[in-house]
Amino acid sequence: MVTETRRAEIEHGLAAAHARIREAEISAGRQAGSVDLVVVTKTFPAADVAVLAELGVTEVGENRDQEAAPKAAALAGLPLRWHFIGQLQTNKVRSVVQYADVVESVDRPKLVNALRRAAAGVDRRLDVLVQVSLESQPGRGGVDPSAMLEIADAVAESDRLTLTGIMAVAPLGADPVAAFTRLAELAERLRTDHPTARTISAGMSGDLEAAVECGATQVRLGSAVLGYRPPVR
Ligand SMILES: *Cc1c(COP(=O)(O)O)cnc(C)c1O
Repeated sequence: MVTETRRAEIEHGLAAAHARIREAEISAGRQAGSVDLVVVTKTFPAADVAVLAELGVTEVGENRDQEAAPKAAALAGLPLRWHFIGQLQTNKVRSVVQYADVVESVDRPKLVNALRRAAAGVDRRLDVLVQVSLESQPGRGGVDPSAMLEIADAVAESDRLTLTGIMAVAPLGADPVAAFTRLAELAERLRTDHPTARTISAGMSGDLEAAVECGATQVRLGSAVLGYRPPVR
């Protein structure tokens, strides 16, 4: 399905990403293996994802339902967990709950409700992260931190949803350490009320070291593993 060259590229990218994560863990004084990797496969073909699965990747991330749904269907036999990481419209929820195992981008009560009902409709359970905005002007998704607990409580009360943590994207052009320090504080606040919500999903190809330094338990890497991705939209 992929050329030998592409297979070698992916293998190389994955090894390099694991090495970077390991280095970041060491320099942050954290335990080796304490940071999980989600490989963000958006814009890359299902064949690339199949190679990742062969190489032992189990967690993959997608941000658009139109793209993710057919990809997940094509790879349904593989031991992959699909993380939905993009802004999610309620009219896409019924599709997303059919393949997603984790929804990381939950940022409004209405979405919690829609996910709960749709998951019940297909008799599935979902892990959920509350996405918080670290921008002064929320825009790239994520709830204002002042409303984080309201969303978290709504998730925790939903029988089909398991609250597993918090997710954020660092603001463009700002110091990621400052943003991820703020995120760590919010994560601690979340755990005060929801002790099992331990995942901190932060760090992308450009800022994973800052995220790991600030306590991320999961990074979401696309280009660092799979290579250049043309800008979307
Ligand atoms: C695309 C994307 C990533 C991965 O970005 P890279 O810079 O390619 O590592 C991570 N998180 C989210 C929410 C994304 O949309």
